[in-house]
Amino acid sequence: MTIFFCRCNRKISIFASLKFQQLPKVETKYIFVTGGVVSSLGKGIVAASLACLLEARGYRVTIQKFDPYYNVDPGTLNPYEHGECYVTEDGQETDLDLGHYERFTNMRTSRANNVTSGRIFQSVIDKERRGDYLGKTVQIIPHITDEIKRDIRLLGETGRYDYVITEIGGTVGDIESLPFLESVRQLRWELGRDSVTVHLTYVPYLHAAKELKTKPTQHSVKQLQQLGIQPDILVLRTEKDVPAPMRLKIAQFCNVAPDAVIQSMDCPSIYDVPLMLHSQHLDEIVMRLTGLTSQGEPDLTRWRSFLDRLHGATREVNIGLVGKYVELQDAYKSISEALVHAATYNDLKLKLTYIHSERLDDNNAEELLSGMDGVIIAPGFGQRGIEGKFAALKWLREHDVPTFGICLGMQCMVIEFARNVLGLPQANSTEMNPDTPHNVIDIMEEQKHISNMGGTMRLGAYDCRLKPESRAAKAYGATDVRERHRHRYEFNSAYRTRFEQAGLACVGENPASGLVEVVEIPSLRWFVGTQYHPEYSSTVLNPSLLFVDFVKAAADKAQSNTDQ
Ligand code: GLN
Repeated sequence: MTIFFCRCNRKISIFASLKFQQLPKVETKYIFVTGGVVSSLGKGIVAASLACLLEARGYRVTIQKFDPYYNVDPGTLNPYEHGECYVTEDGQETDLDLGHYERFTNMRTSRANNVTSGRIFQSVIDKERRGDYLGKTVQIIPHITDEIKRDIRLLGETGRYDYVITEIGGTVGDIESLPFLESVRQLRWELGRDSVTVHLTYVPYLHAAKELKTKPTQHSVKQLQQLGIQPDILVLRTEKDVPAPMRLKIAQFCNVAPDAVIQSMDCPSIYDVPLMLHSQHLDEIVMRLTGLTSQGEPDLTRWRSFLDRLHGATREVNIGLVGKYVELQDAYKSISEALVHAATYNDLKLKLTYIHSERLDDNNAEELLSGMDGVIIAPGFGQRGIEGKFAALKWLREHDVPTFGICLGMQCMVIEFARNVLGLPQANSTEMNPDTPHNVIDIMEEQKHISNMGGTMRLGAYDCRLKPESRAAKAYGATDVRERHRHRYEFNSAYRTRFEQAGLACVGENPASGLVEVVEIPSLRWFVGTQYHPEYSSTVLNPSLLFVDFVKAAADKAQSNTDQ
């Protein structure tokens, strides 16, 4: 650590902050989750699984992710870089791990649950410009670390949570992670028994030697120890069972209690992970380390019944997903998970086929789509792949295949209908062609003047009122719903009557603004487009009812085809 920072300055800074900072009595317990050896070990899934177990024991839990990159939020990141951008109810564009946090628990995340280095630095620099530091030299320690520590404690200080789980993005050893790990070190010292560190590492299996190797874990723990952090619990990601003597050896090398070395083997489904960790008492160990005694077992009845249905389903439902990021399946994570939930609640086994919109046209639409029981037209931005979405929609509409258009997918539904049913061949969104003579999708007047990236979008949860007779209202079992948005462009209400007269109904609108949120073609089996993203709110215990109904319609269609 000291090689990165000027030693004497650091000592003075720490001394200064100790002298004036009264360490508060904290009752909320803080769990830090770090990762070592390699990235993509599934820290988010482990954090979410732990939250699931603690919630099932009746604790109030939240999870937050601290990401070391310098984008102020992930909204400007290409999905190829970082997977899907997840959106919270309060309209924050966040890391996709927040989606896992919500899917595994009852929690709703917010802007406070995802903080990046970019946001930390922006806030420190804003303070410096305002003169808040009273002429002091602004440094990583204490200014950046104090800012990080303040943000880590923010949710805990609301008094709403018994446990705050903080996942530190990146891998121990990354230069960018250092200020976060230093903040964790300081917090651990301040919080004492109110905090626990869980470190996730990798135990590779060398096929040539036919051996599991513990050395990378030892090195990664040493690296963490050099930064002043002693992990309390190790979670070993592994493809093969790590035998007990090997786990004991790791415990001895790493100063961790033998029962706190837990293995996380590859599972058939990510939703098996909480039970796998519970079988090794992860939740009880966390409680023990934070001074709480476990009473009884967590109530996982509904979780287990979901898993029984997930693994018990044998009848397949074939769903196609038409989008342009199909090489990277994380780009559509919330949609694919919402489909897993929906298939499970229909006792069906999901077979999801990703179809590249850039490779789809009128000539091969039949070949690529005819095997599908239902098709999702994905969200997205920009021109690339858009013509393939129109070709898919034309074929699906003409062949009455259950189809679900989400955000850009809904906008494409509207454009395709305008072109091929209303007879407006040049109809488009002004996103794709600013000079289109038929701007059936257009930007809202009030958004036109904003140029700051991220500032122009309609983000977060908005109310939607559905027509009672609509397919969507029947699916939800309600006419008033609230779903999350992430878009700039809207259905242009100037064309509403023409669409409705030709058979595309506007069945959902925002009660405050009148903006059209849901369209459908009532004469077809299931042809629904939503300007919002219902996938963001689908969880294991509360699936999106619109997805459940869509998958049911797809399965019914498959059944009626076989009956014929
Ligand atoms: N590009 C479209 C818009 O901004 C749709 C966005 C999306 O699909 N999330 O309105």
